Amino acid sequence: MYKTYLFIISLICFFSCTNDNSKSSLLLDSKMEESINSLINDMTIEEKAGQTCQITLDAILKKDSLGVLLEPHQIDQEKLNQAILEYNIGSVLNVSNHTFSLEKWHSIIENIQITALKTIHRVPIIYGVDAIHGATYIQNSTLFPQEIGLAATWDTSHAIVMGEITAYETRASGVPWNFSPVLDLGRTPIWSRFFETLGEDVYLAKIMGKSIINGYQGIGMIDKYHVSSCLKHYVGYSFPLSGRDRTPALIPERTIEEFYLPPFKEAIDAGTLTVMINSGEVNGIPGHANKYLLTDVLKDKWGFSGFTVSDWEDFINLHKVAQTDSTLKDAIATAINAGVDMSMVPNNPEYKNYCELLIELVKEGRVSKSRLDDAVRRILRVKHHLGLFNEVQIPLANDYSKFGSEEHRVAAYNVASESITLLKNEKNILPLSTNNSILLIGPTANSLNCLNGAWTHTWQGIDESYNNHYPTIKDVIEERFSRVNYFEGSKMIMKDGDETDIPSSDLQNAVQTAKSSDVAIICLGELPSTERPGDIYTLDLPKEQQLIVEELGKIGIPIILVLVEGRPKIIREIEPLSDAIVQAYLPGDQGAIAIVDVLCGNINPSGKLPYTYPRYNGVIMHYDHKQSELMNGNTWQNDFYNPQWDFGFGLSYTTFEYSNMQISSKTLSVEKELLVSVDVTNTGKMKGKEVVQLYVRDHYASISPPLKKLKRFLKIDLNPLEKRTVEFTISVDDLKFYGKENKWITEEGKFSITISNLSKEFNFKR
Ligand code: BGC
Repeated sequence: MYKTYLFIISLICFFSCTNDNSKSSLLLDSKMEESINSLINDMTIEEKAGQTCQITLDAILKKDSLGVLLEPHQIDQEKLNQAILEYNIGSVLNVSNHTFSLEKWHSIIENIQITALKTIHRVPIIYGVDAIHGATYIQNSTLFPQEIGLAATWDTSHAIVMGEITAYETRASGVPWNFSPVLDLGRTPIWSRFFETLGEDVYLAKIMGKSIINGYQGIGMIDKYHVSSCLKHYVGYSFPLSGRDRTPALIPERTIEEFYLPPFKEAIDAGTLTVMINSGEVNGIPGHANKYLLTDVLKDKWGFSGFTVSDWEDFINLHKVAQTDSTLKDAIATAINAGVDMSMVPNNPEYKNYCELLIELVKEGRVSKSRLDDAVRRILRVKHHLGLFNEVQIPLANDYSKFGSEEHRVAAYNVASESITLLKNEKNILPLSTNNSILLIGPTANSLNCLNGAWTHTWQGIDESYNNHYPTIKDVIEERFSRVNYFEGSKMIMKDGDETDIPSSDLQNAVQTAKSSDVAIICLGELPSTERPGDIYTLDLPKEQQLIVEELGKIGIPIILVLVEGRPKIIREIEPLSDAIVQAYLPGDQGAIAIVDVLCGNINPSGKLPYTYPRYNGVIMHYDHKQSELMNGNTWQNDFYNPQWDFGFGLSYTTFEYSNMQISSKTLSVEKELLVSVDVTNTGKMKGKEVVQLYVRDHYASISPPLKKLKRFLKIDLNPLEKRTVEFTISVDDLKFYGKENKWITEEGKFSITISNLSKEFNFKR
């Protein structure tokens, strides 16, 4: 049951128009296009300019005389009328520093859409939010691990389920558009948004990213349980030279082609409806001014028919930050002419300024009418595709009965438990018997916020007031073990915008208690943060946290380190003092239960690192490095690649043996694919999951080749002594690279395929 208000439209209902489930043609339907064109012909320049404008919710909320938002937030009808009826804005986004109930969301969306019905052409508003690891701005929603943890599951079914549940719960609020997934590659761990990525590898990001989109958008037309995805941040945003957010990146064309574009291309092919643009600059060209990437590649070459949206205030940034345009008006012209369709302006009065300047630009001919029409056409297409034109859909409470349900909670728990990655387990100290007396210590042991990270209820995720009622690690440990002593060890506080770690006075008491405890569980990590507030100076784990391990190490108590962190912090010096190390990433609301289930053996860990865990702050290398990166001037050996742990690494409580690797031929050709098979046996005593990873190496190539590249993977589940034959197919496409002539090519020659400790060579002959 829906409360409905019909948008009386000049458009033919698209449900009757669609009979094609193929994603690539999803957005283009001739009848729908005709209807959109006739609507565009009827619209004024003012209406069209407004459609390209996105404002933040705060811009239409009531404020007091000092300009502070009133609590509880209420829509200021006068401001809303002005934005929609006078300025014809097309979109609203987010909510700042608040998480609303479903009912509150419903009343906001209803008010906005009913106001939109009063416009001449009754064009609905598209509302967008950052629901990046679950419906983050809705009270009692289901929160999953952040993307970096999702990637560590190496399981596409988890990515689909995470996408589906997030979409369902977001749509339950009436919001149809999610600014997710992030498809920037995580190759710079110091960058504040590393945790929002799917890790360092192109193939893993491609496959997991596509699966998230399939979950968000479903198959075919988007129904009331799905949302539009929004790929971010096209492209090169995640690789700033300084490591600091939104600072310049220098990325050669070959690297953009081979690393940064493919996850986006895969997602466009999967039918994504919207794309958010890189706020930074690549090779001196701001993302929002890059006509080549936005128009020539994304729209013309790849055939993307949805719309692009700017990131926060980015046309203003062209003028003020990048300083590529001397006036705001020039900046608007640059962005729209480069291919930005919608601008996240997002405040008042800036949005009014934007609309007025854009209208002037069109009247002066500096932005052509056809470019404006193209932008509006794309926006209307997506609004159609989301069903927004049909009716105002305000869900009633029982429309989404699974919102925040046990079923959804279990799904989030499953993702968390399969993400957790066991990095060390000396003498099989794990799993632990619950008879042990536990010394629990560390600044992340008693914090739900740390488990969730940023983009949780508020942007930076440090406000506790909206937290769901899920346990911390301490809560679960105390429930499972009868003898537990808990200490802080050290504290993390935000001071002058930076995480500051301070020693806790209880560390010495902890050291004393260690003498009568069986095992120390030490929970370390970092405070939630993202974007500029998340910029840090070093990857080193703060010395106050390392001190806990060093002090307890002196007692000789077995140490289990639990890392709750969105990026790999350097732990080289405390790693030898630890008997077991568990990487939990940012596992979300179910993280504590999942972590403790791993520690106790209820879950056999199966997560694998989606990045190379560095040993030194100054050596950030990736698994897909080249021979030419290996020379170590200190030793004159080829041993420079010496990470703490390799990409794809992760232990289990059971053991797996790989045998009988076969390839169907010694030669691969354009016509002839290779069938690769391998037997995997669970040789231990516990049921467990293993990620079978296939890497390809090109031995010699005209562009110096990487020593290995992930090309396929599959997660399998094996009972003790069970053997499974896993098969993969490799084709000529897997051998391509971006050649000297700046084109994708293949070269004949010798290649090898490696799966675990087994390897086979083959030749490629055209
Ligand atoms: C971030 C985007 C986000 C947007 C809206 C920006 O600051 O870079 O990732 O979607 O804000 O919240």
